[in-house]
Amino acid sequence: MEIIRTPVEMTAWANRTLAGGQTIGLVPTMGFFHEGHLRLMRKAREKAKRTVVSLFVNPIQFGANEDLGRYPRDFVRDCQLAEGEGVDVLFAPEVQAMYPAEASTRVVVSRLTDGLCGASRPGHFAGVTTVVAKLFHIIKPHCAVFGRKDFQQLAVIERMVADLNWDIEIIGHPIVREADGLAMSSRNVYLSASERQAALCLFRAIGHARRRVRTGPVEAKVLLQEVEELLQQEAVAIEYVSLVDQTTLQPQAVFRKGAVLAMAIRVGATRLIDNDNLFEEN
Ligand code: AMP
Repeated sequence: MEIIRTPVEMTAWANRTLAGGQTIGLVPTMGFFHEGHLRLMRKAREKAKRTVVSLFVNPIQFGANEDLGRYPRDFVRDCQLAEGEGVDVLFAPEVQAMYPAEASTRVVVSRLTDGLCGASRPGHFAGVTTVVAKLFHIIKPHCAVFGRKDFQQLAVIERMVADLNWDIEIIGHPIVREADGLAMSSRNVYLSASERQAALCLFRAIGHARRRVRTGPVEAKVLLQEVEELLQQEAVAIEYVSLVDQTTLQPQAVFRKGAVLAMAIRVGATRLIDNDNLFEEN
C-alpha cells in the first residue's frame, strides 16, 4: 500500500491510474479504524479496480467546543488495517496542504443541512461537503462509499453530487454494529463502561420501533414519544429523536417505508448518533 501525503502527488497517482484505464473507488475517513471502516473498504474494492482511503481529521467540520483536539488517532494501526484490506493508497494529507492560509472557498448544501445534526452543529456539514468536494477533485474517483450511520451526511453528499453534476457513484453502506447492537464509532472509545451500557438504549429504541411498525402504520408523534421515554430510562441527554424521509430529510407524520428514525444523544461528554429505516433488512 502506498501512503501519499500531498494533494499534488495524489492527483498524479489518480491521473496515471485513469490513463491506464483503471477505475478508482474512494472511502473518505477520519481514521482510527474499526470494522465499519473496513467494511466500507471491502465494498470499495468490490466496486472499483483501485481503492483509495483518505485519512484526514478535517478541522473545519468541528465546532469550537467539539473534540478536534482529542479525536482518537493511531496512524500506524490504521496503515496496517488498510493494508490488510488490500487498499492501494492511503491518502493522509497535512492540514496545511488541504487548507493553505489563503483558502477562501466553502461548498455549502442548503436545506438538507438545517435540521437533525445540522441544527446542533452549525457549519459542520459545510466542513464535510467542502472536504469531500476537495477529495473528489484530488482523487477523481468513479465511486465513493459512505456509511449510513451518518445518514444525513450521506443524503447531503448525494445532493451535492447531483446538484454539481458530478459523475461519481455514491454508495451507502449499512450500519455496522457491535455484537450487542451499539453502532461502531471511533468515538466509542470515549465511553466509560457504564456509559457504554447506557448507550445501548439507542439500539433498544430501534428494536422497539421495529416491533411497533410490524403490525401496521404508527403515527410519528406516538412512537417518537415512546422512543424518547425509552431513551430517558438511561442517564443520557436527548439531542433529537426524529422521523424523516431518507432523501429529503423532511419530518414524516407516519412511520412507513422510506422513513428513517434518527436519534442523537449525549452520554456524559460523548455525542452519539444512530438511525434505522425500520422496515428493511440491514
Ligand atoms: P469517520 O471516520 O467516522 O468520519 O467515518 C468514515 C466513514 O465510515 C463515514 O462514511 C461513516 O459513515 C462510516 N462509518 C463510521 N462508522 C460506521 C458504522 N458503524 N457503520 C457503517 N459505516 C460507518
